Amino acid sequence: MVQPARRLERIPPYLFAELDRMQAEAAARGVDVISLGIGDPDQPTPPHIVEALQKAAADPANHPYPSYAGSRRFRETVARWFHGRFGVELDPDGEVLALIGSKEGLAHVIWAYVDPGDVVLVPDPGYPVYKAHTLLAGGEPYVLPLEEERGWLPDLDRVPADVARRAKLLFLNYPNNPTGAVAERDFYRRVVEFARTYDVLVIQDAAYSEVGEPGYRAPSILEVEGGRDVALEFHSLSKPYNMTGWRIGFAVGRADLLRPLATLKTNTDSGQFTAIQEAAIAALQQTPEAWFRRLAELYERRRKLVLDTLAAVGIAAARPKATFYIWARVPERFASDGDFAAFLLREAGVVVSPGSAYGDHGAGYFRISLTVPDDRLAEAMERLRRVLA
Ligand SMILES: *Cc1c(COP(=O)(O)O)cnc(C)c1O
Repeated sequence: MVQPARRLERIPPYLFAELDRMQAEAAARGVDVISLGIGDPDQPTPPHIVEALQKAAADPANHPYPSYAGSRRFRETVARWFHGRFGVELDPDGEVLALIGSKEGLAHVIWAYVDPGDVVLVPDPGYPVYKAHTLLAGGEPYVLPLEEERGWLPDLDRVPADVARRAKLLFLNYPNNPTGAVAERDFYRRVVEFARTYDVLVIQDAAYSEVGEPGYRAPSILEVEGGRDVALEFHSLSKPYNMTGWRIGFAVGRADLLRPLATLKTNTDSGQFTAIQEAAIAALQQTPEAWFRRLAELYERRRKLVLDTLAAVGIAAARPKATFYIWARVPERFASDGDFAAFLLREAGVVVSPGSAYGDHGAGYFRISLTVPDDRLAEAMERLRRVLA
């Protein structure tokens, strides 16, 4: 049999595999499993976005291959939205690139920049894509531990100078998955200084920039002085508009920094369906403020329910300002986060993500996602109270 490429062996084993197996087994036994493991909104995409797709899909002008970089209308809309939201001017020609979901861009930007042996600074715990693609590309991930005492922000002073000099990319993700932590402008100013000193390109994954507690506004790294010279920012329509299945996002930043990604993509994919870009235009242009307020209130309500439950059973968890996750400490009587997740599945039929699925520094924590219907979340919290009391 033909062997798959050896580079696939570099990817760490999928830590959810055992939990997936247990979940399938429990479901087969007839257990009513409630999964709080996956960050995928339970609410539908707003109707004005669905209607924009329906209309655009029926228009034959949208049926040929799309533009590689994204349609002119899409790029102009992103630039206008970005200016309104962050006060940052972007040139739709060259400083905006459409993505087939931001995950695609985050993976490909590594292939566009990293040669074998190059260092990539990756947060741990973190979204697994940064490390996996660094390894696939033959790069060397250097772990930036995220710690509770520092508000889950990396301590850049702890990166040895020789490592920093060999680093090509620095991945950041604020608001943060899995911890729910946020970064403010003073942190980004420190990042800019570090990136300038060591000539590192910062990749800021802003997938949750629009998902926060009522009234919270995440800043863009491109807002701070010098940010545009050292950083690219990756945005996604998935989480703020309940559009995970639609696969649309964008990268923004200085044209010369964005171009290598555009070149790689031109040789890989042929862009996202223009009708889906039209739907994204409707999302960015027509979604009323009230819709975001309701979304923030929905997650706030669920956040409170989960935090109250955890407090009642003696589990420590900070109140996150943003994202739809709760990141909490595993009670001490459990040997590991994996054991704790297995216990909850076995005893309560509730799935949570073990922290070590996001890296070694996630060990001892677990993540709950707030993207399940209210009644199911309430039921899951009842079960947690019962088995952890
Ligand atoms: C969900 C998520 C993404 C990917 O979003 P898509 O645009 O749907 O690909 C990227 N980064 C983080 C941290 C996420 O949680």
